[in-house]
Amino acid sequence: MDKIQRIGVLTSGGDAPGMNAAIRAVVRTAIYHNIEVYGIKRGYAGLIERDWQKLATTDVSNIIQRGGTMLKTARSEEFKTSEGRAKAFANMQAEGMNALVVIGGDGSFRGAHAYGREFPLKIVGIPGTIDNDIKGTDYTLGFDTAVNTAVEAIDKIRDTASAHDRIFIVEVMGRDAGYIALYSGISCGAEDILIPETVTNVETILQHIAADKGRKKLMRIIVVAEGDDFGGAQALQQIVLQRFPKLEVRSLVLGHIQRGGSPSCFDRMQASRLGYAAVEALLAGKSGVMLGLREWQILHTPFDAAVKQNTMVQEELLKIAEVLSL
Ligand code: ADP
Repeated sequence: MDKIQRIGVLTSGGDAPGMNAAIRAVVRTAIYHNIEVYGIKRGYAGLIERDWQKLATTDVSNIIQRGGTMLKTARSEEFKTSEGRAKAFANMQAEGMNALVVIGGDGSFRGAHAYGREFPLKIVGIPGTIDNDIKGTDYTLGFDTAVNTAVEAIDKIRDTASAHDRIFIVEVMGRDAGYIALYSGISCGAEDILIPETVTNVETILQHIAADKGRKKLMRIIVVAEGDDFGGAQALQQIVLQRFPKLEVRSLVLGHIQRGGSPSCFDRMQASRLGYAAVEALLAGKSGVMLGLREWQILHTPFDAAVKQNTMVQEELLKIAEVLSL
């Protein structure tokens, strides 16, 4: 294939803190190698609509510390069709863009996989999702920030729960993956952690509460992932109140605050590494791969293997959570 002429960079699917830091790293590394970079707006939609702008080093100044994404992100139904992708390619070709860095989740990589197989393009991906649930990497951009946001919020809830002897059920993000629940739950000393990957036995939770009453321990924090099979925080609150109508039980959904905010040092570091590595990979002729981290090393995983990981079994962490909540 021809050598890299111009690189496009886009953010697609769910946003995650650290995406800006990755865009910055892609832009500056490309310019370091005298290659022009185009920032594509609103994910794949921007390729179809020619909604892009050439980025200079100064265009990515002052964004490393910002959450969200300066390029905006979106979902594009049109890109799922071969006609949509053909339009995107024609636009890229007309602009002399023959390489693309896609920052997003597994859906975005499915799109990148289809696109790269149809047209002579070099495409690499950077995993960006707060859920940390992509196969082929130990870590996804935004997870560290999101989990720290959850920890900060749960710590505050613990203060008031303790002052009033209340049970608090806190719902954190994670439709298919329990990483945020597990990490924030362990870090905040939650008494129970409910995640989608395991079958929730609500009777066990009720027994824990009954045992608390017996030993006059009246405060309890239960962290539940939004995708837990039993339902969210409110469903659990109803059940607990039915069994223990005299207890003070509150539920809280943390929601989108987990997506926003200034990225943590860890997310900024890994975004910088992955953005740099993405451009280096393109220049080395790599394509069709997601860059990930495994044992702190950069790893290349083919797009079709970088899928959502629904079968996470964090046996060790679940055991730790159980033992430390005694
Ligand atoms: P995420 O990347 O966060 O998992 P989505 O699953 O919504 O988010 O995917 C983001 C975008 O990727 C979609 O809106 C669509 O444009 C593109 N995409 C997803 N799956 C495919 C596919 N099978 N073929 C082509 N494009 C796809």
